[in-house]
Parts: sequence; structure tokens; C-alpha cells
Amino acid sequence: MGKRLLLLGGGHAHMVTLANIHKLQSQGHQVTVVQPDEYHYYSGMGPGMLSKIYAPEEIRFATRRTVEKQGAGFVRAKATAILPQKKRVRLDNGQDLEYDVLSCNVGSAVPAVKGQGKSLCFPVKPIASLLQVQKKTLQLLSQGQVRLGVIGGGPAALEVAGNLQRLVQDAGGKKAQVTLFAGRKFLANLKEPIRKLARKNFVRRGIEIVEPGYVGQLGPDTIELENGENYESDLTLLAVGVMPSPLFVDSGLRTGPDGGLLVNEYLQHPDYPEIFGGGDCIFFKNQPLDKVGVYAVRQNPILYHNLQASLNRNELKSFHPGGDYLLIYNLGDGTGIFSKGSLTFGGRPAFWIKDWIDRRFMKRFQVMD
Ligand SMILES: Cc1cc2nc3c(=O)[nH]c(=O)nc-3n(C[C@H](O)[C@H](O)[C@H](O)COP(=O)(O)OP(=O)(O)OC[C@H]3O[C@@H](n4cnc5c(N)ncnc54)[C@H](O)[C@@H]3O)c2cc1C
Repeated sequence: MGKRLLLLGGGHAHMVTLANIHKLQSQGHQVTVVQPDEYHYYSGMGPGMLSKIYAPEEIRFATRRTVEKQGAGFVRAKATAILPQKKRVRLDNGQDLEYDVLSCNVGSAVPAVKGQGKSLCFPVKPIASLLQVQKKTLQLLSQGQVRLGVIGGGPAALEVAGNLQRLVQDAGGKKAQVTLFAGRKFLANLKEPIRKLARKNFVRRGIEIVEPGYVGQLGPDTIELENGENYESDLTLLAVGVMPSPLFVDSGLRTGPDGGLLVNEYLQHPDYPEIFGGGDCIFFKNQPLDKVGVYAVRQNPILYHNLQASLNRNELKSFHPGGDYLLIYNLGDGTGIFSKGSLTFGGRPAFWIKDWIDRRFMKRFQVMD
């Protein structure tokens, strides 16, 4: 007999499942996808959208169209609670949806900074908000001198600051200063050769790096460090890491220490075997994983297999995170930094490789009219 599969979020770990909805439907199952937006934005190309290297249409998946084209249901809403005993999910539109099998790929969010509400501040997630940052920056630039602050010392802050600089440069932007507030140390968790290449690039392009110094709070147009230093900022971007969606803690489900949905080697919740998950929103019990899209992408085939197996009472497969992963950073000026194992290099070829990989990924899962 057919069962109900409910997918929360059409994120990076659900790509293969979304592409194969028609197969699940043809087996008699009924699939429903819940997401607050009709599109899902590919984070790997997000900073490039900020700088206008990519148009929004090039970096987003038309989730609603993908789902409806295959005869399944799409609900534009946000899940606010999972009621595991009742096998129901509550949505912010007041609706309750029932499921036999549930899969969660609801991602993560940037934790707030004190005083954020008082200033013009945008977290770097959801990725779609980078479009608002682009529009607001161009608007401010048209009015005069602009100070742009990026708070964060990791790869997301690096890419966002580099692409913000590209945006103002292309807009004839001598009037803008991009400043990166890197906390303890710029790219503290990355290897020295990466840090050196990134620093050299930023110095050459006039992007200021403030370190060490944690941001204490934001004022209406200031960034205040814990050490008492004050910087002016007309628009601030927050890239201070991410935390899994609060959905699981709010629902009283067992989570990892970071609040991510606890899952075993089958990407399955240990208490409720009909609940699965992938991407930034899970805590993988066997080995805590970095919050990078690479793992979400690697989880795809296993998650799809296990959802199908769970619907059809077949055997589940284990997820193995795999070894070292390739990372390429888009610096926004047509160059990138490539890093895999002991190999690190910068320049145009690094960006070309990233661009090729990212476009190929988009092409694989993008559904056109
Ligand atoms: C600027 C930036 C650049 C990055 N670049 C890279 C990179 O180049 N390579 C890399 O490996 N990683 C990169 N990352 C990390 C990467 O973004 C994450 O690891 C990745 O997005 C995780 O994918 P996800 O599908 O789990 O979550 P998300 O991409 O956050 O997707 C979650 C989806 O769920 C939906 N959703 C959220 N809440 C709910 C809810 N309550 N109910 C229903 N739906 C919901 C959202 O709308 C969204 O569509 C970058 C991150 C940032 C911020």
C-alpha cells in the first residue's frame, strides 16, 4: 500500500530524492515537499550572485516546479514543529501534515549578534538575502560614501567580502570601504598557504582586515568590538558560522550538542526510525561533520535509497562521510583559491574549476520550463 513521504526543505541533501519523486509516486507513494520559498539557492554560487558574476536564475533550483512537474505536492510554508508520536508536522500557515516517513533538510542559520536589530544588518543565510544586500549596497553607493562591514573570520566571510568588493568596484566604487572583522584570526581554521593567498588578495584590493578583536555589539551605524574599538558601518553582513535549524530542539526531539537532529549511520533518528535527515540540520552521531555543502551532496544517494527502502520495507544503507574534500573559494575578482589535501594554489584557474563544478551541479538538478 502507498505511503506518505514528507520532505521538509528542498536543500542540498534532497536533490537526488527530488529528482526521483516520479519513481516514488509510481510505486504508489504520495510525496509532499514543504519549503518557505519556491526556490532553493545553491550556496556555492551565492557570493558570486552578490557580485553579479551570476544572475539569481543561474544559482537557484525551482523546487516547486520540480515537485509539481512530477505530480507531487508542494506546500509553501515553514515547518514549526514535528510531533513524532502523532507522525505530524505543524506548519506556520496553521496546517498540520501527516507522514509515514519524514525527511528533514531544513539547513542552518547564522546566530544573531547583539544589537543586530538596531542596524542595517543581513545574515549570509538564507542565501537569497544576498540579493537584498546587493540592491541595498548599490542604493547606498548611489547616495555617496559607504562603509561596508563583514563580520566573520571563515570561508563564508572571505567569499562575501571579496564579492562585495567586486560589486562596488564594478559600480565605479571608489566611495566604498569593505572591512572584514575576522575575530581572533583571519581564516583561523584554514591552512597557512590559504590564509597567505587570501590576505595578499585582500591587501591588493584594499579590503581591510580587522584582527584580532571580537565584535561585541552593533549600533545603528557602528560595529563595536569587545575591546572597546568602534568602527562605522552603513551596512553589515553577518557570517559568523551557522547553527542547525531550531526545529528539532523546539519539537523536543533528541539532538546533538549543536541542536542538530541526531541521526545514526543510516541518516535516521535513533528514537523514531521513520524520521531521516541530511545536510546542515543533522548531527551525525558517528562523526560530527563540518557544516559544508559537500557532505549534504554526498548524503544524497544514501538518503534517497533509505527513504525509498523505508517506504518499501527494504534494507537501509550506511552513510560514510568519505575523506578529505575539495574546497575552492571564489574571491570575486575572477580568481579563486583551490585547496585539496596538501595542494593549494590561487589565481584564475582555481576560479574556473569552481565555476565549472558549480555550473555542472546546477545543470544536473535544475528543472527548466
Ligand atoms: C556564503 C556561503 C557560501 C558557502 N559556500 C560553500 C561552498 O562553496 N561549498 C560548500 O561545500 N559549502 C558552502 N557553504 C556551506 C553550505 O551553505 C551549507 O553547508 C549548505 O547550504 C547546507 O545545505 P542544506 O541543504 O543542509 O541547507 P540549506 O542550504 O540551508 O537549505 C535548507 C533548505 O530548507 C528550507 N527550510 C529552512 N527551514 C525550513 C523549515 N522550517 N521548513 C521547511 N523548509 C525549511 C530552506 O528554505 C532551504 O531551502 C557556504 C555557506 C555560505 C553561508
